[in-house]
Amino acid sequence: MGYWRMPLDTHEHSIIVGKVNIIDYRCKGCKYCIEFCPHDVLEESKDFNEKGYHPPYVKKEGRCVNCNFCETICPEFAIFCTELERREMKPEDIVRVPEKRRRRHSSE
Ligand code: SF4
Ligand code: SF4
Repeated sequence: MGYWRMPLDTHEHSIIVGKVNIIDYRCKGCKYCIEFCPHDVLEESKDFNEKGYHPPYVKKEGRCVNCNFCETICPEFAIFCTELERREMKPEDIVRVPEKRRRRHSSE
């Protein structure tokens, strides 16, 4: 099931939207940030950086929730997020598990 029930007090809460900052030249293409982002925000770029790796890019603008997990796990300090804005919660914000993770778990 893709959606959970909308909480009754959604109007009392806001969603944080993050801005993803990627320092391309530091990236070593390990894809940790891509694999573990809880909102499936990132994807591997087709471009090369100076080291010959493919850095990530933001494939879903506005979906980052500024959880800073990518920043925490990046071994090269090549990515960080900052708060862009706070907005009202929408039904699509209640998606629990990104599609690629659902597929992965269902095949296990
Ligand atoms: S801050 Fe969180 S939601 Fe945003 S890109 Fe990083 S891991 Fe994903
Ligand atoms: S975790 Fe860091 S080094 Fe690894 S792909 Fe992401 S930005 Fe690059």
